[in-house]
Amino acid sequence: MMHDGRPLLTVEHMTVVYETNEGLAKALNDVSLSIYPGQILGVVGESGSGKSTLASAIMRLLPSNASMVTGRVLIGDSDLYAIPEARLRFLRWKKFSMVFQSALATLNPVITVGQQFGEIFRIHEPAMSRKAIQDRMEELLNLVRIHRQHLGNYPHELSGGMRQRLAIAMAIALDPDLVIMDEPTTALDAVVQHEILEEIRRIQQDKKFAVLFISHDLRLVSYISSEIMVIYAGRVVETGPTQAFLSSTLHHPYSQGLLTSIPQLTGGHLELQSIPGSPPDLLSLPPGCAFRLRCSYAREECIRNQPEIKTVRTMRIACFDVEERQKEGDNGQGTIPVESERPCRSV
Ligand code: ATP
Ligand code: MG
Repeated sequence: MMHDGRPLLTVEHMTVVYETNEGLAKALNDVSLSIYPGQILGVVGESGSGKSTLASAIMRLLPSNASMVTGRVLIGDSDLYAIPEARLRFLRWKKFSMVFQSALATLNPVITVGQQFGEIFRIHEPAMSRKAIQDRMEELLNLVRIHRQHLGNYPHELSGGMRQRLAIAMAIALDPDLVIMDEPTTALDAVVQHEILEEIRRIQQDKKFAVLFISHDLRLVSYISSEIMVIYAGRVVETGPTQAFLSSTLHHPYSQGLLTSIPQLTGGHLELQSIPGSPPDLLSLPPGCAFRLRCSYAREECIRNQPEIKTVRTMRIACFDVEERQKEGDNGQGTIPVESERPCRSV
C-alpha cells in the first residue's frame, strides 16, 4: 500500500524479554512495524502472543521485570527510549495515547469521572479555563455518546461499555496522532462491542488519527483495520493490507488456521475449527519456526531455521512452505488444504 508522508510510529526489530522465576521469557521476537498517519493497523494473535507487551513497549510502559533487548521505537524521527521522561509525559496523551484492556483497572475508583477527565487538560493544557475544559469534556463525551451528567459519577457507577467509551474519549482528548487500543472491547458483550467498534470507526474517520488496534479476535481486527499483522509467539508471521489478507489464498499456516476458524470471513462453509495444539513455552522456544509444532506443513528446514518474513504477492509472510509454493508457481487460485485434509506431521 502506498502512503503519503512518513510513518508516525516505527518499531524496528523489537525483542522483549520478561525476567521470571523460571528464567527469561521471550515475549517479543524481532518485531518490526510502521504506522502511517490515519492508518488503522490491527494486531491479532492468541492469548500470550505478546500483544499487550507490544503496546506497553510502544508506550514505554513495560513493567520493571521486562526489558527491550534489541530494537528501537521511533515516534516520527525521535527515538522514544532516548527522550527524557518529562518530554515523554508530554508526548503521551498529546501525540500518542492508549486505551487499555480494562478501563476499570486504569480509572481511579475514588475520583469522579469529571475530575480524572479534567486532569488531562489541567496537566497538558494549563492555559485552558475551567469553562473551556468543561465544554471540551462535554463535547468529547457527546462524541462517544455519554451524557454529560455522568461526569459526576464514579467509575464503578458506569457500565462496562460506558467505561470503555470514556477511556476512548480520554484517549482522544488532546487530539493525538496515534491511539493504541489494547482489546478495547473484549470485556463487553457482542452488541456493545459492535457499537463501540462502530464508534471508533466513525470518530477515527472524522479525526483521522492512526490506530494500533489489538485483539485476539480476527473478526474485529478485519472489520476495523486497514492493515493487519498476525503474531505468533512474539513474532510477526504475516502482515499486509486487510483486504488483500482476506482475499488471498496463500497464507502463513497460522493465519490460515485463524481464517479457517471464522468461515464467514472468507465466505466459506467450513466447519468451525480451532488450531490444534498450544503455543510454545516462551522460556525455551524451540529452534526454527515457533509454529512448526502445530503445523501440518512443517518439514526439516523448519526445525533448523527461522523463516524470514518475505514479500509474497501483496502480503509479507514468514514461512518456508509458502515461499516454496510461490516458487512452484501457485497462482493463488488454488486452495490451501485445511488442517483436517492433511495428516498432521509432527516434527
Ligand atoms: P492476552 O491476549 O491474554 O492479553 P497478550 O498477547 O497480550 O495476551 P502478553 O500479555 O503480551 O500477551 O504476554 C506475552 C507473554 O509474556 C505471555 O507468555 C505472558 O505470560 C508473558 N508476560 C506478560 N507479562 C509478564 C510479566 N509482567 N512478567 C512475566 N511474564 C509476563
Ligand atoms: Mg493482552
